[in-house]
Amino acid sequence: MQFLNTFNPELIVESPGRINLIGEHTDYNMGYVLPTAIEKKIIFEFQRNGSEKDCNIYSKGFDVGFRLDLTNLSKSEIEWENYVLGVLNEISKRTDKVGGFDCTIHSNLPAGSGLSSSAALECGLAFGLNQLFDLGLSKLDIVQLSQIAEHTYAGTQCGIMDQFASVMSEAGKVILLDCRTLKSQMIPINLEPYKLVLLNTKVSHNLATSEYNVRKRECEEGVETIKEFYPEINTLRDVSVEMLLDCQSHLNETVYKRCAFIVAENQRVLEVAAALESNDLKKVGTLLYEAHEGISKEYEVSCPESDFLVDFAKTDANVLGARQTGGGFGGCTLNIIHGDAIESFVEKATKEYKVKFDIDLEAFEVRPSRGTMIAALEVR
Ligand code: ADP
Ligand code: MG
Repeated sequence: MQFLNTFNPELIVESPGRINLIGEHTDYNMGYVLPTAIEKKIIFEFQRNGSEKDCNIYSKGFDVGFRLDLTNLSKSEIEWENYVLGVLNEISKRTDKVGGFDCTIHSNLPAGSGLSSSAALECGLAFGLNQLFDLGLSKLDIVQLSQIAEHTYAGTQCGIMDQFASVMSEAGKVILLDCRTLKSQMIPINLEPYKLVLLNTKVSHNLATSEYNVRKRECEEGVETIKEFYPEINTLRDVSVEMLLDCQSHLNETVYKRCAFIVAENQRVLEVAAALESNDLKKVGTLLYEAHEGISKEYEVSCPESDFLVDFAKTDANVLGARQTGGGFGGCTLNIIHGDAIESFVEKATKEYKVKFDIDLEAFEVRPSRGTMIAALEVR
């Protein structure tokens, strides 16, 4: 891109991906989640370019870039540009202090793998611009405006979890987040001698955005019906197993299954948080397997590749638990594996996965890490 000749970055921001230990699709149902950032991240380099409104953005890994005019923001036909444009659009509603800037990004965070590269992209950009132009946005503002950007420009009606985890996480902890009140509690996570290992199915279904929005609507439909019998109910978070059973005959089968998953999953988040605090790792693992069962059979957002890897994990006593992590239809499975057994497990899984799907599995250990931060700042 043109600006690369004169690129002299004055700010570097690192914005991580995230895993969610448990609590899938509970965020937009105002329930609980248990995510944390990981070491894999997107790195942003910024410079102000002295213009009032011209910005250049370049993604090194994707080898794509574009120029935009801050006074003329609108949706793009090109998917990734919408994450950038959506964030700028939200910022422009809050302040007019952003001036022209150039930004390059590079990433070791796989995109479309359920590790929330989209939130890392949105939040890293917002975080960097906040710093560069002294916008006075709080971390929570950055989280919330990034979420709205994903709704309005990228078209995914996502909950708050991904952005919250990317920005707020702390090393060695998972966040028990109540997505209704946004109250959060940092829970230390020590799995020794076990470790968290991601297996990347390398499956990235296009269905993800559209089906995500369908699931959200199905949950809303469930709430509308349950509300006829329990007027105090506004979200699935407030629905108990008893209430749901009470209303079962009034819900169609699909909507009932979706609701049953969310009600149980929300409860599982609290159980995993308690099990972590009492260091009951076996229980944590069992709940992960249970969650995957629900993801696959009730919420129906898994895929054969993820199911295969979770079933494979179950055959190995060195794995305490496993489930697909992220919005669904592929991406990564999260596994709790004994440290001594990781190598042999990954070797076997890789072989079997190749035979079954002819895909080269990718495996990596992840550690709960800190959220979006400034890596280096050099004020001119
Ligand atoms: P996830 O958030 O799980 O990675 P999404 O489908 O929500 O999956 O977001 C992935 C999208 O984010 C990519 O298709 C791309 O548009 C954008 N994206 C992620 N990383 C980058 C990057 N390094 N450069 C450009 N765009 C990126
Ligand atoms: Mg995403």
